[in-house]
Amino acid sequence: MENKIYKMSEIEKELVALEKSPLYRYRVKNNYQVVIGEGDLNSKIVFIGEASGKKEAETGKPFCGASGKVLDELLTHIGLARESVYITNIIKDRPPENRDPRPEEIELYTPFLLRQIEIIQPKVIATLGRYAMDFIMRQYGLEFEILPISQAHGKKFISKTKWGDLYIIPLYHPAVAVYNRNKLDELKKDFKILKKVII
Ligand code: URA
Repeated sequence: MENKIYKMSEIEKELVALEKSPLYRYRVKNNYQVVIGEGDLNSKIVFIGEASGKKEAETGKPFCGASGKVLDELLTHIGLARESVYITNIIKDRPPENRDPRPEEIELYTPFLLRQIEIIQPKVIATLGRYAMDFIMRQYGLEFEILPISQAHGKKFISKTKWGDLYIIPLYHPAVAVYNRNKLDELKKDFKILKKVII
């Protein structure tokens, strides 16, 4: 475990000093923080979102705004403490005005995320939203199985990794459930599926 903590803190240091990132100046100018991720480094499950929003950048904590409240509710629904899972994003700095990350930004931050996943070696990656689904499925050789999120959500996709079978389970982004109870119900069902895979 100590080794995992050390490796993760090295990644954090590198991200903090990532002056070549197009998002670096925006971070410094606004007094924002890098949002590396948080949770149990021995967790069987890693949740991956897109990029931090304003609240996340201000606090350095992933999913701590409105979407985070929904995520917390979903975790409670399946009896998981937030501290017992790992939560992170593809992009570790907030893009200005929440615009979509640019290809060169994704390219720059990808190796950091892949290193984090290798440290944790989870059994399941739950992607939050279409964007993270697309990205993760491509990274793990499942590009030919990508479906629209309306069909893919709650399904299990398997990729072989050096630490064994990795289940990828696409989920709707919690933001869609902030004002939509139906989507919240669908997310709750999908979280039950998730729970079955990790127990
Ligand atoms: N949306 C995301 O994708 N990630 C966060 O951390 C917050 C909102």
